[in-house]
Amino acid sequence: MQDSSSITGSSGAESERPSDIYPATDFIREIIKEDIRTGRFGGRVHTRFPPEPNGYLHIGHAKSIVLNYGIAQEFGGKFNLRFDDTNPSKEEVEYVESIIADVRWLGADWEDRLFFASDYFEQLYEWAVKLIKKGKAYVDDLSADEIRAYRGTLTEPGKESPYRNRSIEENLDLFERMRRGEFPDGSRVLRAKIDMASGNMNLRDPILYRIVHESHHRTGDKWCIYPMYDFAHGQCDSIEGITHSICTLEFEDHRPLYDWFLDELEIYHPRQIEFARLNLSYTLLSKRKLLRLVQEKYVDGWDDPRMPTISGIRRRGYTPEALWDFARRIGVAKNDSIVDIALLEYCIRQDLNQRAPRRMAVLRPLKLVIDNYPEDQVEYMQAINNPEDASAGTRQVPFSKVLYIEQDDFREVPPPKYFRLSPGREVRLRYAYFVRCTSVVKDPNTGEVLEVHCTYDPATRGGDAPDGRKVKATLHWVSAAHAVPAEVRLYDRLFIKEDPNQAPEGQDFLANLNPNSLEILQGCQLEPSLAQAQPGETFQFERMGYFCVDKYSQAGAPVFNRTVTLKDTWAKIEQKL
Ligand code: ATP
Ligand code: MG
Repeated sequence: MQDSSSITGSSGAESERPSDIYPATDFIREIIKEDIRTGRFGGRVHTRFPPEPNGYLHIGHAKSIVLNYGIAQEFGGKFNLRFDDTNPSKEEVEYVESIIADVRWLGADWEDRLFFASDYFEQLYEWAVKLIKKGKAYVDDLSADEIRAYRGTLTEPGKESPYRNRSIEENLDLFERMRRGEFPDGSRVLRAKIDMASGNMNLRDPILYRIVHESHHRTGDKWCIYPMYDFAHGQCDSIEGITHSICTLEFEDHRPLYDWFLDELEIYHPRQIEFARLNLSYTLLSKRKLLRLVQEKYVDGWDDPRMPTISGIRRRGYTPEALWDFARRIGVAKNDSIVDIALLEYCIRQDLNQRAPRRMAVLRPLKLVIDNYPEDQVEYMQAINNPEDASAGTRQVPFSKVLYIEQDDFREVPPPKYFRLSPGREVRLRYAYFVRCTSVVKDPNTGEVLEVHCTYDPATRGGDAPDGRKVKATLHWVSAAHAVPAEVRLYDRLFIKEDPNQAPEGQDFLANLNPNSLEILQGCQLEPSLAQAQPGETFQFERMGYFCVDKYSQAGAPVFNRTVTLKDTWAKIEQKL
């Protein structure tokens, strides 16, 4: 391992400019340019982000938001936020609120166009009636199991329901009575009459409406029939005048159905385009699985800083800029792939390197006593706030006789290539003096080093020796009398496997949880300026990484989350490519 004694402010390739790294275009932008050229939508571009409020947003959603909002911006178009709230049983107001906050935090602006699919329930119902009147939809009395059995398989055609040829009048009557609540859940559905022998299973008379006697977070008990996603989505796009309905690849097989509804209803027809969803190594991006982690308390909630949710990584100290950078670097493609999480970490390092103020913080303190330093003296050392940003200025850090240094920065018996403090050796204290270790005080029972004693050379104030002598290490420190004690939480990956879904026989992704994903350090010692740090503020603790004040941190008992370490694995990977 490399000796970490040297202090460098930066983390590598900061000379890159976004214009050099982002793909200039992609297949979606090319489609849109072509549509503008041919005047397909009158030159308009209007996208949307359509979350289902059944969980918190994750980094994969961020990719979709950046794509949809980014395209609207680039082409001078519009962007809508629309909740796909067609399923009353899994949806909650908490999710709606968190999603709004997350999309806003990412910087996507829907202006006054925040919509809910439930806003359109009446219109969707009328459209269902229209299909019935056209002889293109029917009420089916088969049970869910029977419908499944009648559907056939990929290799065998399905069978037509015995209720498929009901008269239009009977269908209209039954559908209206479904709406009025005359029938129990699951007793009837409304289906499109398309083709039970279609090679595309989605076209085998898909269900349009189900009976669900449940309250909806917005419409209350007004409805007891709810439209299926497929019947709602395209029609919502149509109502809102969306031009390009961008979704993930699993909807490719649904596109013929998307088109069928709009054609049969003879309404404005947006264009669906599919792209590959984001997969990230060591990470799960499935709301269903993330919900299990929350419900079964493997994490502290949706905003646990180990979660790949937007609220989790925000609490961890990630910035919207880093997520945009990440999303734009990975671009969009038509085939599935797995992105290395090291790239995401690289993006946040790049961003924080530019903007995070530097501070000194000792995470695992060891007392360092300067025997020849006057007992009651305090000197204020000038420290640079950010070597990447001269406008960040400097600050004064108190220095005194008793300091804390990292336990790791002292070895009684130094191993080869260890250049930090050990008996007889001289090192630099950052922004202060050279000190030489003279002795140690040990616990007589355990042999543990309790204190390191040293002498300082007053001629080296500021960190340089007038006689030109050199030291091989520079350590950070905190004055014990002035230090602010804090709790620091060190996070590691939540899963130990690159693909967390690959579990041993008979087990699931939970088997791959990293038992050491969180280490809590109590009694860390911070330089006094950090006493004023506010929740959400991020700093670089010199030599230790980037840290952010936890959102639940209390004044007087600060809690910091490690956002990311300083060690950059991605820059190395990139060099090799
Ligand atoms: P999950 O699979 O986690 O349940 P979902 O796709 O059902 O997610 P939605 O709320 O329906 O969640 O997603 C809203 C939008 O975000 C959709 O357009 C969807 O295609 C997109 N999206 C979801 N997951 C990803 C991902 N991993 N990468 C890119 N886009 C995604
Ligand atoms: Mg979905």
